[in-house]
Amino acid sequence: MTGAAAQSVHSPPHVVIVGGGFAGLYAARALRRAPVRVTLVDRTNHHLFQPLLYQVATAALSPAEIAAPIRHVLARQRNTEVILAEVTAIKLARRMVQLRDGELSYDYLIVAAGAENWYFGKDDWSRFAPGLKTIPDALEIRERFLLAFERAERETDPQRRREELTFVVIGGGPTGVELAGAMAEIARRAIPRDFRRIDTTTARIILIEAADRILPAFPPELSRKAREDLEHLGVDVWLNTRVTGIDGSGVTLGGDRIATRNVFWGAGVRASPLAASLGVELTRDGRVPVQPDLSVTGHPEVFVVGDMARIADKKTGKDVPGVAPAAMQMGRHAAAVIAREAKGLTRARTPFIYKDKGNLATIGRAKAVGLIGRVQLRGSIAWWGWLLIHIVYLIGYRSRAIVLIQWAWAWFTFERGARLITNPLMRSKGADAGQSPGSAASPTASEPPPTKSEVSARTEPQSRSPDRSPAPSSHG
Ligand SMILES: Cc1cc2nc3c(=O)[nH]c(=O)nc-3n(C[C@H](O)[C@H](O)[C@H](O)COP(=O)(O)OP(=O)(O)OC[C@H]3O[C@@H](n4cnc5c(N)ncnc54)[C@H](O)[C@@H]3O)c2cc1C
Repeated sequence: MTGAAAQSVHSPPHVVIVGGGFAGLYAARALRRAPVRVTLVDRTNHHLFQPLLYQVATAALSPAEIAAPIRHVLARQRNTEVILAEVTAIKLARRMVQLRDGELSYDYLIVAAGAENWYFGKDDWSRFAPGLKTIPDALEIRERFLLAFERAERETDPQRRREELTFVVIGGGPTGVELAGAMAEIARRAIPRDFRRIDTTTARIILIEAADRILPAFPPELSRKAREDLEHLGVDVWLNTRVTGIDGSGVTLGGDRIATRNVFWGAGVRASPLAASLGVELTRDGRVPVQPDLSVTGHPEVFVVGDMARIADKKTGKDVPGVAPAAMQMGRHAAAVIAREAKGLTRARTPFIYKDKGNLATIGRAKAVGLIGRVQLRGSIAWWGWLLIHIVYLIGYRSRAIVLIQWAWAWFTFERGARLITNPLMRSKGADAGQSPGSAASPTASEPPPTKSEVSARTEPQSRSPDRSPAPSSHG
């Protein structure tokens, strides 16, 4: 018996959607003409276009340009209401969604709460190495990145200045690659003229990956190309390198150590903890194994979609990847099943079939790699493809227009328009740990300012053994 069977004969079935990300929002939109009442609950008031988050983290775009108020996006959809609330648990037996401040009953439930940063059980690392999942995450990374240059400009001790100008990005998946490439471009092209005492082109950006290549979801040739492009931008790519510790003064790699407070995490995500309340055995990264129609075993009225769901791609046998097109397709599929049943059509549910639209990752200005079907793209063609797709899928004409203008401006000028430090005294999390008394002080009148060549003596990595045991692979 499905959820529809439980509804009253007079009122349309109530569909609750948890999450207004790609899966939840596309599910809601697909239900706009269905004879159902929809309630979408999200703990933020905005739909976030996560693929462009790194552009906020690296000061190319502002948050409002990649996010849209969910209430506004669904304003014209008469059968839908939006609630700003945090879901704390799902009570399957009572068909109830527990909110922090109330509860909601449902006939059908679509769970689309996405994923969160995952530190492979080392949760204390999050204080020192913020990941990139939300707007606050992106703003924190932007703040830490920009503050490091400010501290370096005022630092008188050459060793400490070198540490301030050392940036470590952990994880060679698309997020790590995009962050590292953008950071290198900023340091080398966008800001050198803005500082008087430091040479920002000497900033050291290190990308650390546990596997033997970056972008493991791409063919080896494209991984190699991406690595070359990154190195051309000035990024040091360390493969086969396992991070064993992160603290307020650096990163430990087995017996080696990089002294820096500027560490960023792009190495792992896991499904929303809400998955645990569904009472089924989860995968190692917390996803819910779903039935072919995306429902939860034993609960045909509950669907799990997007990054929270684990289902095999019928064509390849591999897991459907945690990417935006998969989330949108799953959201639409669950909605179609519900709409059919709400209309009284009782034929058997159709299985979800993933349509792989390809995979693209940018490396820097006009550089990207892509795999569409069997066609490999690289260089500027891949970059233009990336740009086009991201513009097309951005929610809202205003955002599209503004983002296009910002990119065009940045293209011609190398400028980063959103280089704001909005909370300069921020000393949250691990940002201040490890700072010695008296460091980052203004040079006194009697002290000569350090010269640019003094700063340019790069910190060489301590010896790195090439044969580190592999760590969990990056999929950020
Ligand atoms: C930095 C980054 C870059 C990416 N780049 C790409 C890319 O280039 N291409 C690509 O295809 N994919 C990319 N992805 C992956 C893509 O963004 C995800 O696969 C997609 O967002 C998954 O959609 P979703 O709806 O499952 O989850 P999300 O989009 O994460 O949405 C989940 C929603 O649920 C809400 N929520 C969570 N918990 C609760 C709760 N307890 N109560 C209420 N609401 C809750 C959240 O606020 C959020 O709005 C990237 C992801 C990141 C983080």
